[in-house]
Amino acid sequence: MARKYEMHIGGRPVAASAHREIKNPATGATVGLCPIGTLEHLEQAVDAAAAAFAKWRRSSDGERRAACEAMAGILTQHASELAALVTQEQGKPLKGIGSEFELGGCAAWASYTGALELPSKVIEDSATKHVEMLREPIGVVGSITPWNWPLIIAIWHLAPAIRTGNTVVIKPSPFTPLGTLRMIELLAQAVPPGVLNVVAGDDELGAALSRHPKIQKVVFTGSASTGRKVMASAAPTLKHLTLELGGNDAGIVLPDADMDKLIAPMFWGSFINSGQTCAALKRLYVPDAMYERVCKAFIDFARATPMGDGMQPGTQLGPLQNERQFRKVIELVEDAKRHGGDILLGGEAQKGPGYFYPVTLVGGLENGVRLVDEEQFGPALPIVRYRRLEDAIAWANDTDYGLSASVWGSDRAQLNAVARQLEAGTVFINKHAEVAPNIPFGGIKGSGLGVEFAQEGLEAYTTIKIINAAT
Ligand code: NAD
Repeated sequence: MARKYEMHIGGRPVAASAHREIKNPATGATVGLCPIGTLEHLEQAVDAAAAAFAKWRRSSDGERRAACEAMAGILTQHASELAALVTQEQGKPLKGIGSEFELGGCAAWASYTGALELPSKVIEDSATKHVEMLREPIGVVGSITPWNWPLIIAIWHLAPAIRTGNTVVIKPSPFTPLGTLRMIELLAQAVPPGVLNVVAGDDELGAALSRHPKIQKVVFTGSASTGRKVMASAAPTLKHLTLELGGNDAGIVLPDADMDKLIAPMFWGSFINSGQTCAALKRLYVPDAMYERVCKAFIDFARATPMGDGMQPGTQLGPLQNERQFRKVIELVEDAKRHGGDILLGGEAQKGPGYFYPVTLVGGLENGVRLVDEEQFGPALPIVRYRRLEDAIAWANDTDYGLSASVWGSDRAQLNAVARQLEAGTVFINKHAEVAPNIPFGGIKGSGLGVEFAQEGLEAYTTIKIINAAT
């Protein structure tokens, strides 16, 4: 019998009257039953968070820090259980850069965020005035998460919110709700009732959350199109916003790149989580003279990287998470074939069960074809030739997105010069798709608004209050 999961509101479990089966994308087996929360559940959760805010906003710095530390401890203690649940509902492998890695990151982020400080600052202390700047919590934070890295993204939202004295209502993706429901049930023990609440349900619940008048900030991670809707919903009540949206990250290989050394970080920079990662390498520009060498390095590496059920030992790549994403990848590769794409590897979906699409490398394309221009969010990488470096830089920048980008080579000065010309929130050199709790991360252009992580990310959960005293 599949387990019926519950929401967690005001410090207690809350059942729904309707449920949906969540299926394993590798096998089609039922993982558990997700409650379908209603607008009434959302109201209860927001009311609980608002009531808890009245007290939690006055909690001491030490209490908030201890809450984050306690959450880190819970995440470490329950890592195996949560990782297995993530692999079963999301599809990523348990090992390697998979769900155990995700859970390790959850604990690390909770702990690091707990140790961050936002002390008050004396701006002026003169004969005429004493001016002090305080950082205050904003209120109830609504968190909306996607399905690709469901637990760590939830931690990225809730840890800084709680660290700074806010309370939280989180709504996970309808594709991967179970891990988040279980994680919040556990983490809620680390804070007073109502500080951390979770509701699960359809997309409409996200829309209702992003326009709710009692929610003062929305932190959203998901697609660019939904991000725009969230921004519009938040406008009437002027909510604070952090938007972490999609990307179409370009990588540029320089003629002196040592492919023997770089193929591993380049492959994983692109195919991490089977390409279902916001800041993955999604198109690669390669000098004409290097083209054969780069393609061969990718093909050899891919052939040695097993794809399968993430619960099976040895699996390094999992399936696409859901049918919608599976269809999208098929559609983009078929479109590339019709537009002169040269399939160097893969290119056909595997027969079921599971949404398996093999590592696919497509040459023969230029900007202007969908697989190059759009975010594929799957294991299909276009490899585009260039003759002049300035063309590659222009093509890399020719996008509405601006999440991250990368440049690969040996000459530090040239690598730095190219990095400075790429339009992205993060430019990597000789790596891609790396985030860390001490490095601010966020997109520019259509990839988002604001940053997460580090001091700068924490500040986004606060308002500034000035106390300006005559002396
Ligand atoms: P999505 O936009 O379809 O859904 C994200 C969340 O928004 C889900 O919880 C969904 O239920 C909710 N939602 C749907 N409609 C809504 C609405 N009208 N109002 C409010 N909420 C609504 O995205 P997805 O398919 O789950 O995730 C994949 C996308 O997320 C990719 O584009 C990826 O690049 C992006 N992403 C970005 C980052 C980042 O940090 N920049 C990280 C991970 C994923």
